[in-house]
Amino acid sequence: MSLLVVGSVAFDSIETPVASREHVIGGSAVHFSYAAALFAPVKLVGVVGEDWPNEFTQLLSERGVDTRGLEVVEGKKTFYWKGKYLPNMNDRETLDVQLNVFGEFDPVLPEDYRQSRLVFLANGSPHLQLKVLDQVADPQLVVADTMDLWIQQEPEALLRLLQRVQGVVLNDSEAKLLTQEENLIRAGHKILELGPDFVIIKKGEHGAMLFSAEAIYVLPAFPTCDVVDPTGAGDSFAGGMMGFLAEAGKADATTIKSAIAYGTLTASFQVEDFSLERMKSLTRADLDQRFESFREMMRFE
Ligand code: AMP
Repeated sequence: MSLLVVGSVAFDSIETPVASREHVIGGSAVHFSYAAALFAPVKLVGVVGEDWPNEFTQLLSERGVDTRGLEVVEGKKTFYWKGKYLPNMNDRETLDVQLNVFGEFDPVLPEDYRQSRLVFLANGSPHLQLKVLDQVADPQLVVADTMDLWIQQEPEALLRLLQRVQGVVLNDSEAKLLTQEENLIRAGHKILELGPDFVIIKKGEHGAMLFSAEAIYVLPAFPTCDVVDPTGAGDSFAGGMMGFLAEAGKADATTIKSAIAYGTLTASFQVEDFSLERMKSLTRADLDQRFESFREMMRFE
């Protein structure tokens, strides 16, 4: 099934307790599409400034990401994000965010992009997410991500968006912020009341929970001590999950559970190095192998 993503395409500067990197390739749509393309072709909608190196676009194209929807704006700068992780490597602080071209982005989707069946609205302004959704003719499954900045700055647009999507993926602190609810189970149910059919709450090293009207499903994270940089974990989780659904060609409840497992494992590789470094050499076979050990770890009578 054809898969489309819109989100940020960024320069990231990252500080972790052990190392730091300046101006590396990042952004929600980049991490998502680079992961999802391991499973199925992905069409990217995004925007960059004239400071964006062509090699970065090439990196995405070589992975099989369709970059015709990546607009380059002359005379302007690319979105920039700087973050710092606390010693627990889970919580982070945003030190700087410069929306630049991303703040004014008014995308016009190429004609064939409009026929996409699966749509992922990666982290970005809900106004932008809605603008993209309005242009897709007949999507079968729309899933959205968001974050604290948008929950605080554009709550009305976010609530409108939630009524138009089937799925939402967000982390535990975002779920609490959105619902003003400290208990995650209650938060999950409150988000369901806002419109979507399912909600996935990510809990970093503690895994993910899926809420729907029928059931709750919980999955631990893959246990690892090789965490170098958690940036992009959420987006690569979503990339693995949506990529798996695109490859499977269906999105029933059982397939969504397997997709969440693949998302979890994709993220477990993402965090092993900065930016796209670990993902560059990752193969589908590596994921399948880790899937088997993961399954074994959770088997009980
Ligand atoms: P994640 O670690 O998966 O939550 O996402 C990290 C990515 O999100 C980084 O590569 C950033 O460039 C990007 N990012 C940070 N803040 C924002 C924002 N407000 N809107 C869109 N993308 C963002």
